[in-house]
Amino acid sequence: MAWNLSWLKGLVLGLLLLPAPLPAQAPPVRDAAELQMLLDRLQVVGSVLYLAAHPDDENNAVLAYFSKGRHLDTCYLSLNRGGGGQNRIGSEQGDVLAALRTQELLAARRLDGAEQLFTRAVDFGYSKTPQETLAIWGHDAILADVVWTIRKLRPDVIVTRFSPTRGGTHGHHTASAILALEAFRAAADPARFPEQLARVRPWQATRLVWNSYRLRNELHAMAPGSYLSVEVGAYDPLLGMSYPELGALSRSQHRSQAFGTLAQRGSKTELFEPLAGPPAKADLFEGIDLSWKRIAGGERVAPLLAQALRDYRPERPAGVLPLLLKAKAALDGLPAEPRVLDKRAQLLEAIRCAAGIWVEAVADRQSVAAGDPLEVTATVIARGEGRAALKGYDLVPALARGGAGGPLPLNEPVKATFQVAFPAGTPCGQPYWMGEGASPGLHPGGPPELAGLPENPPALAVTFHLEALGVPFDLTAPVRFRLGDQVLGERWQPLTVTPPVLVDFDQPVQVLAEDGARQVSLVAVAGKRAVAGRLRLQASEGWRVEPAELPFALARPGDEARFTALLTPPRAAGAGSLTVTAETGGAGEPARSVVRIDYPHIPLQTLFPPARVKLVRLDLQRGGRRIGYVAGAADEIPAMLRPLGYRVDLLSDGELAAGDLSGYDAIVVGIRAFNIRPALALLNPRLLDYVAGGGTEIVLYSNDQGLVLPAVGPYPFRISSHRITDPTAAMVPLVPDHPLLNRPNRITAADFQGWVQERGTYFAEDWDPRYVPVFSVRDPGEEPSSGGLIVAAHGKGHFVYTGLSFFRQLPAGVPGAYRLFANLLALRTP
Ligand SMILES: [Zn+2]
Repeated sequence: MAWNLSWLKGLVLGLLLLPAPLPAQAPPVRDAAELQMLLDRLQVVGSVLYLAAHPDDENNAVLAYFSKGRHLDTCYLSLNRGGGGQNRIGSEQGDVLAALRTQELLAARRLDGAEQLFTRAVDFGYSKTPQETLAIWGHDAILADVVWTIRKLRPDVIVTRFSPTRGGTHGHHTASAILALEAFRAAADPARFPEQLARVRPWQATRLVWNSYRLRNELHAMAPGSYLSVEVGAYDPLLGMSYPELGALSRSQHRSQAFGTLAQRGSKTELFEPLAGPPAKADLFEGIDLSWKRIAGGERVAPLLAQALRDYRPERPAGVLPLLLKAKAALDGLPAEPRVLDKRAQLLEAIRCAAGIWVEAVADRQSVAAGDPLEVTATVIARGEGRAALKGYDLVPALARGGAGGPLPLNEPVKATFQVAFPAGTPCGQPYWMGEGASPGLHPGGPPELAGLPENPPALAVTFHLEALGVPFDLTAPVRFRLGDQVLGERWQPLTVTPPVLVDFDQPVQVLAEDGARQVSLVAVAGKRAVAGRLRLQASEGWRVEPAELPFALARPGDEARFTALLTPPRAAGAGSLTVTAETGGAGEPARSVVRIDYPHIPLQTLFPPARVKLVRLDLQRGGRRIGYVAGAADEIPAMLRPLGYRVDLLSDGELAAGDLSGYDAIVVGIRAFNIRPALALLNPRLLDYVAGGGTEIVLYSNDQGLVLPAVGPYPFRISSHRITDPTAAMVPLVPDHPLLNRPNRITAADFQGWVQERGTYFAEDWDPRYVPVFSVRDPGEEPSSGGLIVAAHGKGHFVYTGLSFFRQLPAGVPGAYRLFANLLALRTP
């Protein structure tokens, strides 16, 4: 499917430059104080770019201070979207988690009023050095993206969250500051990335500073004047709070990172240290003209906007409408450079608010396939004294003829209904940045119009052509679906274009350890009316899938057809994939599945990743079949073990307290269970009794912070935050004849190939001598660590603590991880 760039271009210019609240979730509702802040913002012509690596790196108090306190056009550039972290509210991982975090950043920006942009960098997990980070991302690719952002936004000041030289933090962090420093100069140099100059011009920001954090004694040792201390804790009566308070609300949107934050009230200073450009002595923006004088022709706009601010009365905002409309006419006459475009969008929103105009475009369903009918109702209400008139409507893209205008009686909704259908070939709503990029460190860049944007533009929008006091202006509303949720009330969801048929498998990874065929289940769900055709299944060489063709005919969107197919693995161990082509008339297309991300703090996200199953043929021996499982956080391991013939019982607190555990060959305690299951503080002795009676307890990593009990094992050891981030780091056996390395599977170096993201986290340290470490492993340039897997005999059984990331490797279908895990489960069996 190709992107239809001509209509994207219209949307990008018409919509995406509007202030942050418009493209997502509900239409913006602004009170009189917010309109005054918009008028304040219109007086200031200047911008600041805050730059760091991840969702959550941004200093929310500082963003709120720049945006609401200094009225600057403020942007947070997060190099990546945070798909490599842990999810504290659900099971989303990888790209899906990145989509959730993208929306959490946008939710934060809706509060602090800043804009949000990204580069193509993938969050590939923890990195210990910036060198490793830049090698995986591709230094030049991400530098180009940062340069692009600077040239596009033309910020006066660039602020990093991290130091380009001081280590001791995530490699992504240091890399973000290194790139900021390089891009500060490269953005101004027309010889660097000249291919960008067709769309943007070189730009030299005035200064680059590091928003630093220093201990008190460190600060005392610094030369006077080597840093700038800025008070950001002022109370803002328009907000009814201080900037750090607003920052806490904004930070608390990072729910998937459990960053709910207490507000801090009272004075608060932030430090800024110069990295490039003339150091600031008294103010970060000193020496920079932040007035309309910096724009040719701006002297015609500035007095009108200044007068509007002086005349503004919150109880009668329409009083400033004539001035704002005059300013609009003046601003329309200025050249369309980036700052002017930003100001035009802000002024339009101020006009909308001052005139009390509400516009909305509501679809009769949340998702629709190309070709199916969709009804869109466009509503405009003039709720203020603006005396606006409607000149007409247009759809963007123009899927239907526009509507005629008419008068807008005070507070009377004026509606128009459009019957539309998306043409064949319209791309589905899969985010442009998702999927396989040019390298494993890069997300796809999408079409140049979208480069760096957080999300796709709306699939469809309505432009309302309005006029007041003889001045025409356009307001654009994305088409949304409006839902009355009995618990949450009014919810607005983006309209999604769905593929004609969606295909979901019961398992995204099939791991087979035996020769016989296995039944796989899949479901085809109609995305549109009267869809018929066939699914063609294709398995990698050596694998057989029968039947390979599955005909279907579905009447209504949402109707389902369920299928089973028999999958026969090859004899030899190896990996492959099962893919699906959907043929629904015309050429077949790779089938897509559907993933929904639905939380109250973000708009509904609908993703359409390719429908495919990873296939793994294992050479696996099992000993021990009956497994008890103490589930931890978002743990997929039980679902991966069951198809291999293990009987896995999830153990409730009640079963742990009173059940008979002695029949289990092994009991696994899932990731972070000792952080999130408070009852384990009392129940742990039951687990250790089970071990003493001959059982095997395998504890997967818990976080060293916030354990529910002081010690999890029969003998002391400490859980550290040490991790091995190189997934190829050599695993050196320390006890070659240890049963874990030999029974029933002989573990060799080959078993540590193909691990994903890392070796492990939260390794054990300072263990009692009764524990035996099994492997030694080290990251490049570090000392070896042997706390990744430790075993102790206790009574007649065994206790194991492991930081190795089985929770990641098993769902990813990594063969060696299965073989080693099978050996852990088999410790009890003779
Ligand atoms: Zn970070």
